[in-house]
Amino acid sequence: MTSQIHRVCRLGLVNAYLVVEDDGITVVDTTIKGGGKAIMKAAHELGQPIVRIALTHAHGDHVGGVDELVASLPGVAVLISERDAPLLTKSDMSLRPGEPQDKLRGGYPGIKTAPTATFEPGERIGSLEVIAAPGHTPGHVAFLDTRDRTLLCGDAYSTLGGVATSAKVNPRFPLVGVATWSRATELESAKALRALEPSRLAPGHGKIVDDPVAAMDAAIAKAS
Ligand SMILES: [Zn+2]
Repeated sequence: MTSQIHRVCRLGLVNAYLVVEDDGITVVDTTIKGGGKAIMKAAHELGQPIVRIALTHAHGDHVGGVDELVASLPGVAVLISERDAPLLTKSDMSLRPGEPQDKLRGGYPGIKTAPTATFEPGERIGSLEVIAAPGHTPGHVAFLDTRDRTLLCGDAYSTLGGVATSAKVNPRFPLVGVATWSRATELESAKALRALEPSRLAPGHGKIVDDPVAAMDAAIAKAS
């Protein structure tokens, strides 16, 4: 089966994904500010309309293109986890009772667009199943494509500079580890994602890795 997932990479550093569904395209993450144009161009080449934007988490290098995409695509749905929604608009940056009281790290620019809806783990967005993966941010999620078990893992793992979890700073690509909120929570999420036995790992930073389970095991061991 040809994959229905197309990667758009900005500056060789950060990815958005176009996930083709029967009703059009789900854009997963939007890269940085100014990143909307390349996403629109990729959708045009696929000949499909963008019908929704689903975000793994609220960091600026994942949500930077949302406002410009929304300006060009009236009626597009904008979806994020209930927990990261207030971080997306910067309406409430406080931690909740019961959460690890670690410091929020990384860039939360706060965008103009409010989500049109929020989701919870276990819900489906087209073919994508929402998987809880907190730790990098409090409401970080991954998306599992139930058609071919590609795991769009956001910043739970990166593959730039080798497969690594964001529970520990990877000296070869420190960005995601440095921006992680709760390292202990992130490590548990990395284990839960590995247990899904994905066929491919499609991260926010780095290339898509086929048959990633052994590399995920090594990454977890390194961070433990
Ligand atoms: Zn991030």
